[in-house]
Amino acid sequence: MLYPDQFGKDPLFPKHSDFAVVFKDELIGRGVITYRSFAEGEVIARMAGHIVPDIRQHTLQITPNSHLFDPYFSGFFLHSCAPNISLNMVTLTVTALRDITANSFLYMDYAETEDVLYKQFPCSCGAPNCRGWVTGRKEVHPAAIARSEPGQLKQDHR
Ligand SMILES: [Zn+2]
Repeated sequence: MLYPDQFGKDPLFPKHSDFAVVFKDELIGRGVITYRSFAEGEVIARMAGHIVPDIRQHTLQITPNSHLFDPYFSGFFLHSCAPNISLNMVTLTVTALRDITANSFLYMDYAETEDVLYKQFPCSCGAPNCRGWVTGRKEVHPAAIARSEPGQLKQDHR
């Protein structure tokens, strides 16, 4: 189990034989890799952690005032605008959005769970639908602010 014993012994908790937090590259830092394959729709793991009231690095939002601090597993999920996993923050389960092959990194969409990010950042996920800049779902994208400025609107003939 990647989780310490204090969180109990849920059979869905991630095992060292199936997952690891690994260094990806200098730009991205660490991410979660899976050593086995999963089918689309499969529940791949259950998350655990400490419930904290504030947004930190490695937290995932449960409600606007409670966040799961998981420095063992889910706190290291990488972001993609075309994710391969989806998080249910009520059941604390992780589901495969498509078939996942062994030795793949797990990618969620941070805007799926987060109203506000600990830190916004430029995205280089390479997906055709890449938003280019990652924000929480309730945060306004900087490009939208630029578009709403009067000077910008005049130049926008679309
Ligand atoms: Zn992206």
